[in-house]
This record gives sequence, C-alpha cells and structure tokens, in this order.
Amino acid sequence: MVSRTIPVDPFDLVIFGGTGDLARRKILPSLYRRYLAGQIPEDSQIIGAARSELDEAGFRDLVRASVEEFLPASKRDATTLAAFLTHIRYVAVDAKGEAGWVELGEMMREGVIHAHYFSVAPSLFGDLAQRLCEFNIANADSRIVVEKPFGKDLKTARSLNEVLARHFPEQQIYRIDHYLGKETVQNLMAIRFANILFEPLWKTEYIDHVQITVAETVGVDGRGAYYDTSGAMRDMVQNHMMQLLCLIAMEPPYHFDPDAVRDEKLKVIRALEKVRPEDIVRGQYASQGGKPGYIEDSENPNSRTESYIAMKVGIANWRWKGTPFYLRTGKRLRARTSEIAITFRRPPHSIFDDPDGSRENVLVIRLQPNEGINLKVMIKEPGPGGMRLVQVPLDMSFAQALGEEGTDIPDAYERLIMDVIRGNQTLFMRGDEVEAAWAWADPVIEGWEARGERPHVYQPGTSGPDDALMLMHRDGRRWREIKE
Ligand code: NAD
Repeated sequence: MVSRTIPVDPFDLVIFGGTGDLARRKILPSLYRRYLAGQIPEDSQIIGAARSELDEAGFRDLVRASVEEFLPASKRDATTLAAFLTHIRYVAVDAKGEAGWVELGEMMREGVIHAHYFSVAPSLFGDLAQRLCEFNIANADSRIVVEKPFGKDLKTARSLNEVLARHFPEQQIYRIDHYLGKETVQNLMAIRFANILFEPLWKTEYIDHVQITVAETVGVDGRGAYYDTSGAMRDMVQNHMMQLLCLIAMEPPYHFDPDAVRDEKLKVIRALEKVRPEDIVRGQYASQGGKPGYIEDSENPNSRTESYIAMKVGIANWRWKGTPFYLRTGKRLRARTSEIAITFRRPPHSIFDDPDGSRENVLVIRLQPNEGINLKVMIKEPGPGGMRLVQVPLDMSFAQALGEEGTDIPDAYERLIMDVIRGNQTLFMRGDEVEAAWAWADPVIEGWEARGERPHVYQPGTSGPDDALMLMHRDGRRWREIKE
C-alpha cells in the first residue's frame, strides 16, 4: 500500500527536458507512483517536450524504461504501467526556436490545470518562459517549476529571477529544493509546531548547539567537470542545508501558509552572522585503492573546489545568539547519512553522585537512512547498584511506528509535483529567499577565493579532514559519529 492520497484535479503537465536524466530518474517514476496511488485523475496528460525527434510511441518506450529501471519491481506492476502510458504524450520543441510550439499549444486543454516543468539547463529558462507566453500557451494560473541550481551566486540568481519575473508573477513560480519534499523535513515543522513539548525549550537558554550533517559515500563520479564549477558550498549548503537550518531556527509562522512559512525562513537567513575564516574547513577526497581522488575526478589538476565543507554558523537574534549551528557535508565519507542533532544544555546542577548525572539530552532527526526521531534521555541504570544513570534513546523509526505506511514514504519529487498541481507553494523557495541565501554565501566563497585557500585532503571512508574535528574540539564539543 502506498500512503494515503487525495486525488488532485485533472492537469496537463509539460516536462521540458522530458528525455533528460532528471526526468528519467526522478520525475517520470514519481508520476507513475502517484498514478499507482490513485492520485492522478484519468483525465490528465503528461507531455514530454524536448529536443529529441521522438514520436509518441518512442517517448512512451522511454517512460516505460525509466519506470522499470528506477523503481524496484515491488513498486510497479505491468497493468498500471500500461494504463499510465496512455496518459503520456510527446512533442519535439526547441526552446531557442519556433519548432514544436504550435503543436504544444494545440495539445494543451482548456479547463484543466497547466504546469510546465523546466527540467533543462537554467540558461533555457528565459527562452521557455518567453515562448510559453508568445505562443499563448501559458495562462494566468499556469505553474512554472524550475530546478536547481538556481544561480551560482547572487548576481546569477537575480538575473534568473528577473528573467522569470518578466513573464510570470512569483505566485506562479515553483523553485524546487527536493530536500523540502522529504517526509522528515516536513516533520521538523510538525515536531516543532504541533507539540508543546519542545517549543518552550527551543532557544539558546536550553539548546547548546545544533549539528546538521549530510554525508555521502559516493564521489562526484562522472559529474566532475560540472561539480568543479560548484562545490559543496554551492551544491549543498546554500540551498539544502540552509533550508534545514531555517526550519529549525525559524519563529512559528502564524499559519501553515506558503508566505507565512517563507517569511519566517527569510528572517532567519537575514539574521545569519558573517562566517569567520577560522570557522570554515574545506576538503577534497584523496585517491584510494585505485579509486580516483577528487582531483582526478574533476579532471582539473589545480582544482580548489571543495568536496567537503564544515562550518560554524551563528544566528544574530534573541532566540539563537550564543547557540552555534555546525554544518558539514561531504562526498566519499564513511557512511551515507543525513541528520539534524539538537544538543540541549546540561541540567544546571546534578543531584546524583554520578559523573553521568548531568549528561545532555540530544534530539536527533534522521533524514536518511531509516527516517525517524531519536531523543536521548537519562534514566536510572536498572538493578540494585545504587543510583547510577545511563543515557538511552527514545527511538522512533517511522517504519516501526507507522507500520507499512512508514516504510512506503513517497519520494520527495512525488510530493512536490503534486503540490505544484495543488497550487501549494509552501515547500518551494521564494525568489527573495534564494537571493538572501546567496547574499550570505557569496562573501564566504569570495573570502576563501581571495585568501587563495586550498582544501585539505582527506581519506575516503573517514569523517572528513582532521581540521574539521578541531572546529568542534576547540569549542569543547564533538561531532557526532557518521554512521548509518
Ligand atoms: P540532461 O542534459 O540529461 O537533459 C537535458 C534535457 O533538455 C534533454 O531532454 C534535452 O532534450 C533538453 N534540451 C536541451 N536543449 C534544449 C532545447 N534547446 N530545447 C528543448 N529542449 C532542450 O539534463 P538533466 O540532468 O536532466 O538536468 C535538467 C535540469 O535539472 C538542469 O537544470 C539540472 O541542473 C537540474 N537537475 C538535475 C539533476 C539530476 O540528477 N540530473 C538533479 C538536480 C537538478
């Protein structure tokens, strides 16, 4: 069984770049999953639009192959796949020319929701937006979905925003950050704002520090040339990790409403302190056992791009001044794991004659693998040996707590695409939010470029460069172990 679903209204969804890697790996399999779950009405069309000269049968073959390659056999079946394919159409279009646009216009139906997913290079966003309007394909309710990267700095992000704004108001633009579609990330808001338990403690008086870790075991394999123009700061910190930080740090919005939530996130980004050079450690993975290192993968012997970054970030507001947020992310690390750990302060005084009597509570929110929540609390060690204390986890894996539904969590893209159709922008980044995040990230990047810093080399399969350990040790704190 897949998770509970409420069908959306009928729609025509155009996937520009429908033959590309992202469409094949994520968008098309996600749409099939939503169809299987009964969420996509039969009166809907999914239209692939790309440069390839394919006919409809050719594109349906591509969709079938994508679903079969990227979904395990247990998550698909031949009958529903055949039915799903009847909703698939294709038109060859040229974003930069005239070809295909009239045909696309003729395929779009009146009286249904229109969504246009720009799964193409950002350099084509302007052309697509312009042609959708020129050929009268877009209407006042059409939704435009754009992928990351949304710029590589403030200047490029601003110009992308301007290009889109020339044709569409902000209410029609959906900027994807797929982290926001993850179940646990949304649970961050539920944990904070649907329970009274944590909120009174959610401030610097009670929280010692926060750690956010996104660790990967893979390298940049095959994407080296692209990654070398980006790096961990641009690829992970400015967008995904910033979003996580915002959800932890923001004030309660007055309502779970797109602008109310995004207003509060924006305030957090604007309150971020300038990061000091000594609070940043960057790294590149070394070669190991015949496996190439970052330098070989990037095919740039002089590359100074980081495949790892750790940093200490402060938030200058009443709630958080004095509580550092430590962020780290990297490739070729010990394990694939993403988590947020909130470490509370120790009780002011221990009444127990036990050195463990004043250990801190830690709330861990696991994003992957095994999404769930774990609260470390102190209890009495069982047995008659006196009042000895021991730290134990109150562990809730969603899979255990929710049974079958907890193990069948929809992919982030499934949720986000359905939100587009529903017209709900809460989990999408607003233009000013993206620009504020770049305004914070730009000086950090410019700083290490001006100082000519080279990343530290770290061994694959470890937790990153040793200097990153020092970032915490000198504050009398420790990183949590990176493990699955
Ligand atoms: P890709 O190179 O695999 O596919 C590009 C698609 O764009 C193809 O379908 C191609 O036909 C189409 N295209 C190119 N030029 C065109 C033109 N002039 N007119 C019409 N169509 C044209 O790219 P991708 O990896 O699928 O990435 C698409 C977008 O998604 C990019 O912005 C990328 O940064 C972003 N993205 C990709 C991934 C991923 O995992 N692949 C992840 C996150 C974000």
